[in-house]
Amino acid sequence: MAIDGAKFKAVNTRDRNFTKGKVKRRREQIEESVARYLHQLDSADRQEPSLARTTKTARLTDKITMLREEMGRLEEREALMLATEDQQISLTDPDARSMATSGRGSGMVGYNVQSAVDTKHHLIVAHEVTNVGTDRAQLAHIAKRTMAALQVDKLDVVADRGYFSSDEILDCHKANITVSLPKPQTSNNRLKGKFVKADFRYVKEDDAYICPAGERLVYHFKNQENGKTFHRYWTNVCQHCAIKDQCTTDKQRRITRWEHEDILDEVQRRLDEQPEKMRMRRETVEHPFGTIKCWMGYTHFQMKKLKNVGTEMALHVLAYNLKRVINIMGIRPLTAAMMAA
Ligand code: SF4
Repeated sequence: MAIDGAKFKAVNTRDRNFTKGKVKRRREQIEESVARYLHQLDSADRQEPSLARTTKTARLTDKITMLREEMGRLEEREALMLATEDQQISLTDPDARSMATSGRGSGMVGYNVQSAVDTKHHLIVAHEVTNVGTDRAQLAHIAKRTMAALQVDKLDVVADRGYFSSDEILDCHKANITVSLPKPQTSNNRLKGKFVKADFRYVKEDDAYICPAGERLVYHFKNQENGKTFHRYWTNVCQHCAIKDQCTTDKQRRITRWEHEDILDEVQRRLDEQPEKMRMRRETVEHPFGTIKCWMGYTHFQMKKLKNVGTEMALHVLAYNLKRVINIMGIRPLTAAMMAA
């Protein structure tokens, strides 16, 4: 199963969605415009002949009044927005949320549709409409829904790096779900020519890491952070290391290992052994999402509110799956199978 999330537009336009960032930017624009018009008023008073001055002054005064009225409306919306749990309001569809997309400046107000698509036939096995902008906390939930839909007790899923969350991967592991997904690169050290954690090899039998200089970093202690247990490893020979400049500016390089990191190592090993899985994932999920978006047209959803949008999406998914099965089996065998069921 390939798991992915796709952003679909709500009926709510970007102008009718307010977040802290958008309010701040709009306030700055209004203040800049008011300052510019006030400056022009000042110049008109000094330079223009009297008739032209009166006309220009009236025009500029109108503009300033309109901007001050807009500022008043913006402040009312800001107060409403700050009173909500996620500090965001959408005026047309209250459940729609601002969603970042991969294209620069192409964010939209909409919904994030999670789906699991089978890699062989490209059928949508499970889906769910959410208004959560990121995929990070979605993996285990949609994978478990997929298992329930298929009535199986184990599942193999592939997802993109946006889903990488150690808690979600652990949750999947406990539910007998095998996950393949790449780890996001969060450190810039590799680009700076420095060693990253992946350059340190973990030796399970010894519970130790081997560093790029061939030294053993042994276990020293464990501690808790945000409810998780981490083990710490280091060696005392770093001060004499010839390649320390590439490694650390501290007295010694310390490596941190989560108590369940074996599971993350397994995920990476699977990906290293089958790198084609990521290509297969992309090709699989592009098919249904591309088709459904094409059917929906430029505006995507027609309905408002999560529950109604969920129904709208379910109808699209049903139509997609039906057309897909007709293409795979042919209409007569499908009808016969349905009659026999
Ligand atoms: S600085 Fe320490 S951990 Fe880093 S390569 Fe040298 S010996 Fe290994």
